Amino acid sequence: MKKEIIIIGGGIVGSTAAFYLSRESKDHITLIDSGNGTATRAAAGIICPWLSQRRNMDWYRLTSQGASFYQTLMNDLKKANLSDLPYQQKGTLVFKNKVRLVEKLYHIAKERQKNAEMMGDLSLYPSQEIHDLIPQLEGDQGAVLATGGGRLDGAALLDALQDQFVKNGGTIIKGQASLTKKETVQVNQQELDYDQIILASGAWLPQLLGPLGYQVDISPQKGQLFEVQTDFQTDNWPGCMLHGEIDILPFEKGKLVIGASHENKKGFDLSIDEAIITKMKETATSLIPSLANYSISKVRVGTRAYTSDFLPFYGNLKDNPKIWVASGLGSSGLTSGPFIGWQLTKEMLGQNLNFDPSPYSPEQYIKKIEESSD
Ligand SMILES: Cc1cc2nc3c(=O)[nH]c(=O)nc-3n(C[C@H](O)[C@H](O)[C@H](O)COP(=O)(O)OP(=O)(O)OC[C@H]3O[C@@H](n4cnc5c(N)ncnc54)[C@H](O)[C@@H]3O)c2cc1C
Repeated sequence: MKKEIIIIGGGIVGSTAAFYLSRESKDHITLIDSGNGTATRAAAGIICPWLSQRRNMDWYRLTSQGASFYQTLMNDLKKANLSDLPYQQKGTLVFKNKVRLVEKLYHIAKERQKNAEMMGDLSLYPSQEIHDLIPQLEGDQGAVLATGGGRLDGAALLDALQDQFVKNGGTIIKGQASLTKKETVQVNQQELDYDQIILASGAWLPQLLGPLGYQVDISPQKGQLFEVQTDFQTDNWPGCMLHGEIDILPFEKGKLVIGASHENKKGFDLSIDEAIITKMKETATSLIPSLANYSISKVRVGTRAYTSDFLPFYGNLKDNPKIWVASGLGSSGLTSGPFIGWQLTKEMLGQNLNFDPSPYSPEQYIKKIEESSD
C-alpha cells in the first residue's frame, strides 16, 4: 500500500526532498507551504564554501558536500528536461583589503582544493586584473578567485524543483499547516494523516513542534537584499564577496543582486527597511561608483533560521520516528540545503548515505519538555 508522506515547508530543503522522493518512491507525497518569509525565495546566493574562513570543520564538511552536490542536482534537473538551469559556475572573487589577508586566504583555499574538485582553479588576483574582469570596480583591493564558485537564483530553483515534483505525481497545498497530537496535519480546514512527515519549515520549526511539547533551538534572522538593473556586461562576472556583509551577485543582462543584511532581534518582520537598503547601496557604490546612476528595482526580504552554535541539523526524531526535521541552515543554506534535502530522502528510503550525519543530529537542538496529553 502507498504510504502518505507529508513535507511541510517548500524552501530549498523541502523542495529538494519533494523532488527526490517523488522520483524514487511510489508513495503519495504532499508538499505544504505557506509561502510566507521563505528564505530561499528571498536569497540569490553565492555557492562557494571553499573560500570561507569559518573554522568549524563540521560546517565546512557539510557545505563543501553541499556545493559539490549541485553538479548532481543540475544533472538530475537536466535529465528531467530543464534547460534553463538556475545555478551557474561563473567563479567567486573574495576580496581582502590587505595583501597579507589575500595570501592567507589563498593558502587555506589551496589546501582545501586537494579535496574539492568543484572549486576549480584558484588564483590570486591583483587589483589590475580585477579591473580587467570588472571594469566598473574601483579601489585597490586584491582578491582570491575560485573558478568553480557558483551563483544561484533561489526562487528559480524552487520553481524548477516544484514543477518536477508535480510532474512526478506530487501534490502541493498552499497554506499554513499545524501538527496535532493525534499525528495528523491541519491545513486549510482539512485534516491529513501521514505515515512519515518532513518538517523543512526553516525558522518556523519551533512553532510547528511546540504544540507537540518540543523546545527547538532556532532563532529567526531577517535578511534583505536588493536588485539593480544596470547596463554593465555582467554575463561573465564572477560573484563578488566584499568586506563585511555585502556580496555583489551578477546575473545575465546587467542584473545585479546586492546584499544581504543579517538582522537579529527583528523576529519574523518582513518589512523593507529603507535605511538598511540605502546603507548597503552606499557600501556597494563605494566600490562600483557608477551604481549611483541606477535605481533599485526590487527589494527581497526573507527569514533565515539559526541555531545557537550556527550549525544546521537534520534527521529523524528518535522519540518519534515518523517525524523528520531540518533547520538552522543560517546564511549558507543555499549551499547546504539541496544536499540536506537529498540526504533526508535517502535516509527515509533506507538508502546508503556515504556521509556521516551524526554531527548534525537533531537531538542536540530539539528537546521534549512535556509529554503529549493524548
Ligand atoms: C537575503 C538572504 C540572502 C541569502 N544569501 C545566501 C547565500 O548567498 N548563500 C547561501 O548559501 N545561503 C544564503 N541565504 C540562506 C538561505 O537562503 C537559507 O539558509 C535557506 O534558503 C533556508 O532554506 P530552508 O528550506 O531551510 O527554509 P526556507 O527557505 O525559509 O523555507 C521554509 C518554508 O517553510 C514554510 N513554512 C514554515 N512553517 C510552515 C507551516 N507551518 N506551514 C506551511 N509552511 C510553512 C515557510 O513559509 C517557507 O516557505 C540567504 C538568505 C537570505 C534571507
